[in-house]
Parts: sequence; C-alpha cells; structure tokens
Amino acid sequence: MTSPVWHPYAHLKTQAPAPRVVGGQGTRFTLDSGESLLDATCSWWCMIHGYGHPRLVKAIQEQAATLCHVMLGGLTHDPADQLARELVRVTPEGLNHVFFSDSGSVGMEVAMKMAVQYHHLRGRPNKHRMLSLMKAYHGDTAGCMAVCDPEEGMHSLFSGFLPQHHFAPAPTAPYAATPEQVAADLDALRAVLEAHHHEIAALLMEPLLQAAGGLNMTSPDYLKGARALCDEFDVLLVFDEVATGFGRTGRMFAADHAGVSPDIMVLSKGLTGGYLGHAATLANDRVHDTFIGDSELHAFMHGPTFMGNPLACRVALESLRVFEEDDYLGRIARLNAILVQELARDSDLRAHPAVADIRVLGATGVIEVHDSKALKGAAAIAREQGVWLRSFGRWLYTMPAYITSDEEMHQIIKAMKAPFTANA
Ligand SMILES: *Cc1c(COP(=O)(O)O)cnc(C)c1O
Repeated sequence: MTSPVWHPYAHLKTQAPAPRVVGGQGTRFTLDSGESLLDATCSWWCMIHGYGHPRLVKAIQEQAATLCHVMLGGLTHDPADQLARELVRVTPEGLNHVFFSDSGSVGMEVAMKMAVQYHHLRGRPNKHRMLSLMKAYHGDTAGCMAVCDPEEGMHSLFSGFLPQHHFAPAPTAPYAATPEQVAADLDALRAVLEAHHHEIAALLMEPLLQAAGGLNMTSPDYLKGARALCDEFDVLLVFDEVATGFGRTGRMFAADHAGVSPDIMVLSKGLTGGYLGHAATLANDRVHDTFIGDSELHAFMHGPTFMGNPLACRVALESLRVFEEDDYLGRIARLNAILVQELARDSDLRAHPAVADIRVLGATGVIEVHDSKALKGAAAIAREQGVWLRSFGRWLYTMPAYITSDEEMHQIIKAMKAPFTANA
C-alpha cells in the first residue's frame, strides 16, 4: 500500500520505497527490517551528536515536564534568554542580538527582511535587493529560492514567481588559495557591487562552504575581502551558517577561520543538535540599534508562532554544553585527519576517470564526479556495506556526526570509494 507521505525532492514515478526507520542510537539508525545503518550524512547534517544522545533526550524530557511552549510575543522565558546569551558568547564578536525562528529558511528570510528594513530606516529605501553568489543555497521558501543559484539551483521553474536579485560568480579559489587567486574572485564581487550597490541591501553567503549548491569550498581570505567590500559599499554582510555552524568546517563557525564578523548571521541545522527544528538570526549593534526609533516603521514585523520554543532552546543549550565539554572540535580534527589521509590524498581515486575533484574541510568530505550518472549505484553499494549515503547531483559526500569513531570514519570512506573501485 502506498503511503500518503509526500517525500522531498522525490520523483513520484521513479522513487524507490523509502526504508522505514524505527529507532536510532549513536551514529546508527535501525530499519523495521532490523538492518542497522551508519549515517554518513547525520540526517542532512544536523544530528551532530548522533541519535538518542542521553543528555539531549533528558533535556527535552525535563523541559517537556515544565513548559513545552509559550509565545514569545510579549513574554519571555529562561530557555530563550539563556540560549540567546550563549549564542552571543560563542559567535563572532559583535553579534549581540538574537531573533529566533523555526527553520533555516525562515532564519534567512528574517535576515533579508532585517537588512532591507535597516536601510529603509536609514533613509535608503532603494537598497532593497540582495547580492548572492552562484552555487548558493539558502533554503526552499520563496524569499530563499530567489537567492539560490538561479541556473543550477533546482528552483529555475519558479523564476517568474520570484523577486529578482543580483548574483556574483561563485568563488573559485580553494581553501588554501594564494592571495592572487582570491583577488580574482574578489574582483568579480567588486564588479557587481560597483554596478549595483545603490540597490543592494546585503551580500549573502555561506562562508567557506557552499553546501547544497555543490559543496564548493573557498578561502578565508575571500571572507575578509567580502567584509571590506561590504563596508566600502554600505552593504550588510550576512553569513548563512545554517550548514557550516557548530563545527562543520573545523572551527566553531566558518567565520572564525577568517576572524571576520558579519553584520547578521543565521544558524539552524546543528543548533539543537538536530533534535528539534529551530533557527537563530543574530545581528550586531549597528543593525539592531537602527531599529530603535519613534516611528511605527521601527518595529520588526516578524514573529513565527514557534519562535523561541522552550523545548528547542533547552535542547540547544544542552547541545552546546556537550559540544564544549566533550571537546567536539578535537573530535572534528581527528575526523578531518582521516578524511585528508584516506580520501583527499588517495591518488588512485583522484586519477579515476569519473572523478573531477576530491575536497575535504573540517568534518566534510566530498567526491565530485564529472557526470552524475557515475553516482547512480553509490547509495545501494554503501547500504550493502551498512552505510547510509545520499548523494545529490555530481556530489558524493559525508558530513558525519562528530561522535563518529575512527573505525566508523574508515568504514564511511570505504563505502564512498566503493563505486570507483568496483568499476575500475
Ligand atoms: C539547510 C540550509 C538552509 C535551509 O534550512 P531549512 O531548515 O531546511 O529551512 C539554509 N541555508 C543553508 C546554508 C542550508 O544548508
């Protein structure tokens, strides 16, 4: 019998029946068949502690017994207040104000709305468009679709429905690029700003790692250059750290690699350790204080029903404690060392005719192929080896939970390489 559940990104005619998950513990989840799978993607990159972490489960249970939900309109509560303080503490200098919402996409919508209103309140209503990058992915809601890569970003069908923004080329300089390589990328960014700054409210980017748009990695110097350009052209800098936040690139935040503070930063995915959907949009004083004023237009007219949900805030607080107490940055460095050694430095894999590139950053490892057909059987081969992989487009990647053991990391890498060794 077919299920009424409509699955995301699925072609209804060709989709395979979805395996039924009945539970999860640590790095693995279990299917109703009894099959246990090592999750190489930690459920779209958010289950950073793995499944069923006792401290996170307990935090939710305790909070549920006290207060599951209350509106944040006109009221406040300790979990929201404490989480906001903790986020201000751990994020880059200057991000002192926290607006909660319920998902990464909405967190980005909030960021864009804040940026437009900021300029409006400063008497620059013409600055109402965004500058985004090719290969960007910022979410699936209308406002977010409009700032995803307009050509390859899977939303081209909706182009007539979406507001028009500006795009600069995706950065091409790799993480360890020379200043000259980065300069070429920054020149391309400057060119768009010079031509259109009078109508640009904010530059949006996924710092260092453009995730769902093709796992494109770039240099910290690009972030520094972008910061300087934004200051020069009176444009706000928005970092979408929904995917990169909480350790994925090897530092707590991608911004930390560059020592750069954006004006606005968006967090979600790893925020609650994946245990509940939630997001935070942080702003610096410059943005926040512009909203202090006498006119009615000064209020920020946004307020998702579930913003600051106590269960989500409480589990996010516990997630952050575990992250720091259990030295997750140290664990990520170990996973990174294995990924570098066994994936990035595998010269046979690199020389395989189907393989275009291999990239590693923090706890992220990617095999990019020339033609997506090369990845057709990859998930099935991995599953035979007890590993859950889900490739997209031309990218086969892992973003494992940070509790992944060395042995499990080896197992994941072996499964990623399997499609290339079998056909060799
Ligand atoms: C996943 C993602 C989003 C969207 O988050 P949702 O919670 O799925 O709405 C936005 N930006 C980036 C960089 C993401 O990876």
